[in-house]
Amino acid sequence: MAVIIDGKKISQEIRSELKIEIEELKNKTGSVPGLATILVGDNPASQSYVASKLKYSEELGMKSVLEKKDISISESELLDLIYKYNEDPAFHGILVQLPLPKHISEDKVIEAINPAKDVDGFHPVSLGNLVIGKDTFYPCTPYGIQELILRYKIETKGKHTVVAGRSNIVGKPIANMMFQKKEGANSIVTVCHSAAKDLSEYTRTADILIAAIGSPKFIKEDMVKEGVVVIDVGINRIDDPSAKKGYRNVGDVDFENVEKKASYITPVPGGVGLMTVAMLMKNSVKAFKRINNI
Ligand code: NDP
Repeated sequence: MAVIIDGKKISQEIRSELKIEIEELKNKTGSVPGLATILVGDNPASQSYVASKLKYSEELGMKSVLEKKDISISESELLDLIYKYNEDPAFHGILVQLPLPKHISEDKVIEAINPAKDVDGFHPVSLGNLVIGKDTFYPCTPYGIQELILRYKIETKGKHTVVAGRSNIVGKPIANMMFQKKEGANSIVTVCHSAAKDLSEYTRTADILIAAIGSPKFIKEDMVKEGVVVIDVGINRIDDPSAKKGYRNVGDVDFENVEKKASYITPVPGGVGLMTVAMLMKNSVKAFKRINNI
């Protein structure tokens, strides 16, 4: 039976540590980290992500503001809003919730954020630093994955890490993080994507499997080897008439069956998802410290 990696517990631990740190920073500097969140439109998933980011930032004693904009906002108006927060010394982190409406270029928006305030870690400067192994704002989900690996003291050095998925927000950054010559990394990394004719050919060789493909329960028991460490990033909504809302979220991994073979596994929910917002808070504190030369 696998050890179930408890993202709820670890994310709470991180938030408790941050709360203490923010209090200390307040005593030292007279100010607190500020996070400006920009939400465009009324996508329900985005609204719920933003609500939890606001809730946690306020719980930690951070300064938090939500700029809620109508879907009709123009690209230049949105860019101007970002420029305003780039200049505002009370805000150390700027987060633009993605996806954006089609008439707005996500690339332009991400690149408009001052890299010193890039708490989502999506700016090319942050990602470039990540690739060359320099300290940076790590994108929150990959950062959360690595934190789970570190806190569970999972051996990664020389292990074969297989990443399924190559998105800019999960697959590419976590693959790059996992081969850096660092603690919680130093792995031999294989990255798979939809051009793989038979994904199982690669996943079966994984000591550590990071699944980020967005396909419900796609990774089956026969696709992994005995003792594998499984990190399931997927959040997929499936119909469930027995659930209150009529649906529930499942991962990319067939948890019930894969668990029997794994040494460690993250559940969905209760695994990686909860870490993402905790790491956003950690990045916001880091931005504050960097800007204040602490
Ligand atoms: P994307 O849709 O952007 O990327 C999916 C990747 O998986 C692509 O690279 C795609 O290949 C690859 N892929 C799809 N099907 C297969 C397959 N059968 N075999 C091999 N590769 C495949 O997704 P994201 O990275 O944004 O998200 C992945 C999952 O993680 C989703 O379920 C999402 O909801 C969840 N997620 C969870 C987060 C959290 O906080 N826990 C945060 C972000 C995402 P190709 O490039 O060729 O298209």
